Amino acid sequence: MNHDVYISLGSNLGNRKAYLQQAIEGIAMRVGNIIDVAPIYETPSWGFAGEAFLNTCLVCRTFLSPEEVLAQLLLIEQSLGRERLQNTKGYQSRTIDLDILFYDDLIINTERLTVPHPLLHHRKFVLKPLDKLNNQKVHPLLKKTVSELLRTTNDTSPVQRLSDQLTFPAQKSPFFHYKYIAIEGNIGSGKTTLATKIAEDFNAKLILEQFSENPFLPKFYENPKQYGFTLEMSFLTERYQQMREQLTQMDLFKEFVVSDYDIFKSLIFSKITLTDDEFVLYRKLFYILYNQIIKPDLYVFLYQNTERLIENIKKRGRAYEQNISPDYLKRIHYGYLDFIQKNTAIHSLIIDVTDLDFVKHYNDYNLIIEKIREK
Ligand code: ATP
Ligand code: CA
Ligand code: CA
Repeated sequence: MNHDVYISLGSNLGNRKAYLQQAIEGIAMRVGNIIDVAPIYETPSWGFAGEAFLNTCLVCRTFLSPEEVLAQLLLIEQSLGRERLQNTKGYQSRTIDLDILFYDDLIINTERLTVPHPLLHHRKFVLKPLDKLNNQKVHPLLKKTVSELLRTTNDTSPVQRLSDQLTFPAQKSPFFHYKYIAIEGNIGSGKTTLATKIAEDFNAKLILEQFSENPFLPKFYENPKQYGFTLEMSFLTERYQQMREQLTQMDLFKEFVVSDYDIFKSLIFSKITLTDDEFVLYRKLFYILYNQIIKPDLYVFLYQNTERLIENIKKRGRAYEQNISPDYLKRIHYGYLDFIQKNTAIHSLIIDVTDLDFVKHYNDYNLIIEKIREK
């Protein structure tokens, strides 16, 4: 029941920056977790004569309904000395003004509440900070992205970015409890992309499998019988060496480690690619190495259906992968599931990413991050 609410903040009376800052703290306390705050912009007062405004906006994750959010915003406005003069028409100066811009993709039209905010696309002082928060956010009524709305707005007022920054109370990172997270999944499920994104966004050390440097991989796809054992051996050595080096040298300035594979995939794949005799030998060696390696404290498995895996493999266009059969992918999939089911000591989380596009859609990415937080 988490919702993303976008809130605009404006002040044109008194210590304007301090009012914005206090409002942010009020929102964090009363509305929900603040995900991000835009820079501050200064704008001549709009629609009436008065002091210039400082404006910004933020996105907040909340359990409250839109009406409850509005009620909290009005309380915060009141506590920050906002006065609403009776019997005056039009706009007045205010210590703080807090408006709801978007609430998920809801469209609301009640006496007390209009969402999306009916004037947002006519206001550069709203669009500019909003664009910095999420320029791909689509206006659910106008069906245009914030970036398009900013480009096409008829507001020509000068909106100037200030160098001052507002701060917001940091919520605990969704990865707070973990030292080492492995992202796993079938070929083409998006492991590398997700691991890379998480490392960038949450300041983690990134370990990526060096598959492109494995000279046996293209040969294996040509002739699996001949090259299976060599390939699996070379992968195992590489992975073991990389994990030994990377997991023991902790980077002081990184919060945790995220990798796009777990070394156990060696065993999962080899069970499919090797003959029975080869596998028995391989497994012996594998466990000798495996027992010396630090295991991930969270194992995230991305589930993606076979059709989309094949689509993704086509899209990334590695020549040697193009003949991978649906049957091979299915066997790998069941190999992973079998591993997850049997190894109950491993703290695992299966995420169905079939209908998600975490590269294109901020919400899809967030959904994955929130699943990890809940876990
Ligand atoms: P504007 O809507 O042009 O920005 P304003 O913010 O100065 O004007 P206020 O006097 O702060 O207007 O708000 C008047 C009422 O607007 C609020 O009490 C609230 O009930 C209603 N309202 C309707 N939609 C919204 C919204 N999306 N966000 C905040 N208030 C809203
Ligand atoms: Ca307003
Ligand atoms: Ca308002």
